[in-house]
Amino acid sequence: MHKTVTQLLLAGGLCLASLTAAGAAGPEAIPAPPPEELVLELWNPMAFPQEEAEALPDTEEKVPQLSALLAWEGLSEEQQWALAVRMEREPALLERLEQGGLSDAQLVLLALPNARTDRLDRYLAWREAHPEDSPENAVFSVNADRDLAFYSAVSETVDPAGTVVLVNKHYALPANYVPELEALGYGYGSGSLRPEAAQAFRAMADAARAEGVSLRSVSAYRSYGSQKITYNNYLKKYKRSVVDNFSARPGHSEHQTGLALDINVASSKAHFENTKAFAWLKAHCAEYGFILRYDKGKEAVTGYRFEPWHYRYVGVDIAKACMEQGLCYEEYLALLPG
Ligand SMILES: [Zn+2]
Repeated sequence: MHKTVTQLLLAGGLCLASLTAAGAAGPEAIPAPPPEELVLELWNPMAFPQEEAEALPDTEEKVPQLSALLAWEGLSEEQQWALAVRMEREPALLERLEQGGLSDAQLVLLALPNARTDRLDRYLAWREAHPEDSPENAVFSVNADRDLAFYSAVSETVDPAGTVVLVNKHYALPANYVPELEALGYGYGSGSLRPEAAQAFRAMADAARAEGVSLRSVSAYRSYGSQKITYNNYLKKYKRSVVDNFSARPGHSEHQTGLALDINVASSKAHFENTKAFAWLKAHCAEYGFILRYDKGKEAVTGYRFEPWHYRYVGVDIAKACMEQGLCYEEYLALLPG
């Protein structure tokens, strides 16, 4: 009878309960945990799509190799499990293992649930450059593109119209991308957003108003063309290295997604972080699907200085995961299963 790797592991006595228990601590219990713990918290092995596993090519003939893999000395049960799941989903990787093409160091990295196989060389390079860093941190950092200088290796972003689209100094929107837009309307400040984000903003502003807090948009959707003018105007006054800390190059602005907006102010001089509105937003924005996108302490990841006024719509579930665990969006994505 054909058995999936998952079934073989269970037959072999691997204890799933111990894996899930490791990630059982609630997010509220750990306000700012180190990445090692976050990996376990966000990755739930029980969520592995079983139907998908069943539909994969027959792995029966690979059993001897898998058994050898499972017996590999030095790997914990958790690592064995993660590797077996990965090999089941990526048969080419199993072939590489059979041919002796994977080193111990590579296997340790690939055993991390959030490892991306196509980034393996970058993980190794990171470990070489940061020998003191754990494999977990290497994968976490490279997944967030910390190994790339800003604007040095730009890719076109995947699915520009998705509400989860990543736009930053590594991923750009096409110059001609214009989302479907809806005006925020009277009483909500200026500009337009995508309908789902506009609706969420109005609901958020209404809830804030009921508690005596005024939230108004001062800048929402911005086209590629207007961002180009804005960025180039700054370049007339400041050096590029300075401008890049606070203004996005055209195609790299979240405002072009129609999912981001600046609330009440858009200047560091206003010290928005000291206002009642900021405190309210920090506590409640996730309930409406928004995240504080450029938080203090995340400058090395986002490439932007602290912008307490800039919020991005990502949907309620992701927003809660980010805000409750103190993750910027790149870090959240870096922890997702590979
Ligand atoms: Zn902004």
